Amino acid sequence: MSKVLALANQKGGVGKTTTSVNLAASLAATKRKVLLIDLDPQGNATMGVGVDKNALEQTFCDCLLDGLDAHEVVHHIENAGIDLLPANADMTAAEVELMRADNAEQRLKNSIASVVDEYDYVLIDCPPALNMLTLNALVASDGVIIPMQCEYYALEGLTALMDTINQVRSSVNPDLQIEGLLRTMFDPRNTLSNDVSAQLIEHFGDRVYRTIVPRNVRLAEAPSYGLPALLYEKTSRGALAYLALAGEMLRRETRSNAASAAV
Ligand code: ATP
Ligand code: MG
Repeated sequence: MSKVLALANQKGGVGKTTTSVNLAASLAATKRKVLLIDLDPQGNATMGVGVDKNALEQTFCDCLLDGLDAHEVVHHIENAGIDLLPANADMTAAEVELMRADNAEQRLKNSIASVVDEYDYVLIDCPPALNMLTLNALVASDGVIIPMQCEYYALEGLTALMDTINQVRSSVNPDLQIEGLLRTMFDPRNTLSNDVSAQLIEHFGDRVYRTIVPRNVRLAEAPSYGLPALLYEKTSRGALAYLALAGEMLRRETRSNAASAAV
């Protein structure tokens, strides 16, 4: 069974793309079949796995707007062992045009219907906004991963995201789960980070991943080589953190499957 996960947080620069790319590569390293979907006009996930966003003739935008089959747009990223549905600035048009479309919020779900069963995990890198694109991702997903920096305004932003998730749940996608909250760019020497981290655990309990992604310069450098950190420097603390995150996700999955089998 494939699992579709949106990486979402309307706050910019919190590590959505870094997490999408590196989690995708880490899950692939454990022999899972992974599709990475770039839903951001910035095209950072696309560039981050080494695809030139400006040289693309077709992007996932063509699937969303014109109903092009996703198979036509999938890029196989040989070194990372993942597939990619890429994006570039054309996705800005999708955001605008979707507003006028019928069943606007269902477009992404329909666009990936022909490919989703070929994968164990589909990871959707959302733009930094609670817009129609992010809404499409939430409608199509089984769960949401929320990367966040443990800063003063982080919790404030979460309220709006939770409201949106609850609206999607109460309308079109009642099964949408909070898959997990991920602490990114973490600096344990910072008192505020530790305070915010403690508050997160108080509010969300075991929905907060135990894995913490530290601030690590290799994670910031790797995209300029078009590589996940695992392929850029596999022993870096950043690469190891994302391997640990993949391990934690897979263990959780095994536990919840065992629990539902026992019912
Ligand atoms: P946007 O909202 O613009 O899409 P984002 O949430 O996708 O941003 P990223 O692009 O993943 O965030 O990260 C923002 C910046 O921080 C990037 O330059 C990235 O390389 C860097 N970065 C992300 N995670 C880490 C980390 N753990 N350590 C150091 N740098 C990081
Ligand atoms: Mg991003």
